[in-house]
Amino acid sequence: MHVETKLVQAGVGRDGTTGAVSFPVYYATAYRHPSLGQSTGYDYARTANPTRTVVEEAIAEAESGDAGFACASGMAAIHTVMGLFSKGDHLIVSLDLYGGTYRLFEQVLTRYGLQFSYVDLRDLRALEDAVRPETKAVFIETPTNPLMQITDIRAVSVIAKKYGLLTLVDNTFMTPYCQRPLELGADLVLHSATKYLGGHNDVLAGLIVTKGAELSEKVRFLHNSIGAVLGPQDSWLLLRGMKTLALRMERHQSNALAIAEKLREHPAVAEVFYPGLTDHPGYEIQSGQASGYSGMVSFRVRSAAQVAPFLEHLRIVSFAESLGGVESLCTYPATQTHADIPQEIREYVGVCDRLLRLSVGIEHPEDLIADISQALDATLSLIAGECTR
Ligand SMILES: *Cc1c(COP(=O)(O)O)cnc(C)c1O
Repeated sequence: MHVETKLVQAGVGRDGTTGAVSFPVYYATAYRHPSLGQSTGYDYARTANPTRTVVEEAIAEAESGDAGFACASGMAAIHTVMGLFSKGDHLIVSLDLYGGTYRLFEQVLTRYGLQFSYVDLRDLRALEDAVRPETKAVFIETPTNPLMQITDIRAVSVIAKKYGLLTLVDNTFMTPYCQRPLELGADLVLHSATKYLGGHNDVLAGLIVTKGAELSEKVRFLHNSIGAVLGPQDSWLLLRGMKTLALRMERHQSNALAIAEKLREHPAVAEVFYPGLTDHPGYEIQSGQASGYSGMVSFRVRSAAQVAPFLEHLRIVSFAESLGGVESLCTYPATQTHADIPQEIREYVGVCDRLLRLSVGIEHPEDLIADISQALDATLSLIAGECTR
């Protein structure tokens, strides 16, 4: 079956007693045992819940993995996975990283004795140079957020295997509709399902997918032991969202490409970052490892003075901090998603105060282009002279 079909059919025919096509929400936290030593498969809701099971199986199938785990948020999923590591262990992490992940690593997990090195994973030499005796894993975000840099998942997985490291991929931006890291050699995939998988800006959720029996059992133990699991109503909302993922991603992507091309022509814009543009430096790798380019577009205006008026003039696109929903949103990484990354590091990786990030929704492309163009036009008088990076 194709991923579209797997996602649409998730949970259909699974409720044997009623035949409900939309799988029901099970609120029960406790389950009667048939007799001593027997179980229906459900005992206590932290360990397993029937509605959650359907979502977990759906994401495992969609990602070509062996087991799926639904968590209370993307951060809960990442924190759960970090339970695989112990004091003194070292991880190599994408340099241009989601701000919340950076905050969890630097402000929480370093206190537990984990160590993190941030490396531009487009540079495979730099990756090998960063490996230490205590290195246990490589954590990849590709495309990176917000600069849309592309990491070669196959190549990183080969190097990771050579040194006995796990390859962990945050696949939030691409989703299994466009990219399946486990098929490319990764061991574990993470999602903020709050974004494209949920898709409607109405559910906070995280997902983990593992490959291999041993790793799956380890994560199963952590998921139950830590307990940052997804509740039944949220599991149902996520499942409903996942059913339309394929259709949504196609529209997100065609809209994003149209907008990226328009932005490039606009005199108020200095640079555009979208991996679906054929001259994007990661285009070849992206095309070789993914079947699409997703709906995230970043761009730099020419002067930081343009940012506030641009955001104020937007009518359809909302100035808001998230991504992946049907509604178009615009984020200002410097003060929103990446505010917890120190300014020197932000500027070094290129998340400067002229960078804006669009999560392109599924509205009509002409309406989005008209909205963004008029907001950019309103900033033209403010360009003080061309800025350099
Ligand atoms: C949003 C996001 C997260 C965190 O997920 P939450 O659901 O907000 O906890 C992690 N990684 C990426 C790439 C994200 O965009």
